[in-house]
Amino acid sequence: KKTIRLDKMLGNLGYGTRSGIKALVRQGAVTVNGAAAKDPGMQIDPEKDEVVLDGERIAYRDTVYVLLHKPAGYVSATEDNRDRTVLELLDEETNVFSPFPVGRLDKDTEGLLLLTNDGKLSHELLSPRKHVPKTYRALVAGEVGQEDVERFAGGVALDDGYVTLPAELKVLAVARAGESLRHPEMAQAADRTSRVPGLRGAELAEARRQGLALSWIELTIHEGKYHQVKRMFQAVEKEVVYLRRVAMGPLGLDPALAPGEWRELTEEELAALR
Ligand code: URA
Repeated sequence: KKTIRLDKMLGNLGYGTRSGIKALVRQGAVTVNGAAAKDPGMQIDPEKDEVVLDGERIAYRDTVYVLLHKPAGYVSATEDNRDRTVLELLDEETNVFSPFPVGRLDKDTEGLLLLTNDGKLSHELLSPRKHVPKTYRALVAGEVGQEDVERFAGGVALDDGYVTLPAELKVLAVARAGESLRHPEMAQAADRTSRVPGLRGAELAEARRQGLALSWIELTIHEGKYHQVKRMFQAVEKEVVYLRRVAMGPLGLDPALAPGEWRELTEEELAALR
């Protein structure tokens, strides 16, 4: 039977430091199975014991699953000497669980990033044998066409010689020279490049004035090589100028989350991932 110290349980849930929790217990704010707890170090069976703090039933858990809309400018790491990390976007209560990003998005990539402290789930989602699909939408310099769709379907050789698995490319919109960005999501992505430091919006606008066509595409890949989407387009002599991940396995980017916003997974989302 698995038990945990009362102060550790509350600490893990973000209710304060060891000493803060000790004080709460001494004040009589915590009851266990209806009786005021006296010893902060008492052993709790999280499955059976009913812990109540200030009248609120405390459900113990030791895992956390966060769906983050990663904004550009943050690195997918838990620590970094130079850059802000995605953990800085979460709150203290959530960071108590020591979540880490499941895989990486580049510093300038936006979109769906899952964070958890569940090493087993993370390992399964990232396992090369599982081929968990990841779907991206991207603004690509130039006209992406049927030829690119076919080359991606067959696999392209990256700069290091690695040949990618078949990937599904869809061209959602193309804006040729002089045409405005009619596709609303494409216009919004182009707008992000001009408002977010680190994305090259000014350069892009100038290139557009010089006659550059832009494509808004969706690409699903079944593996996760370093900079894979950008390098796949390099392989067909095109450049990704904005990249957003919109899905990972059964998990989609929640349209209600603006870049920088996050929420915990719902029960249904978690069940679908497992
Ligand atoms: N492919 C890339 O090139 N960058 C990312 O961040 C994710 C996939």
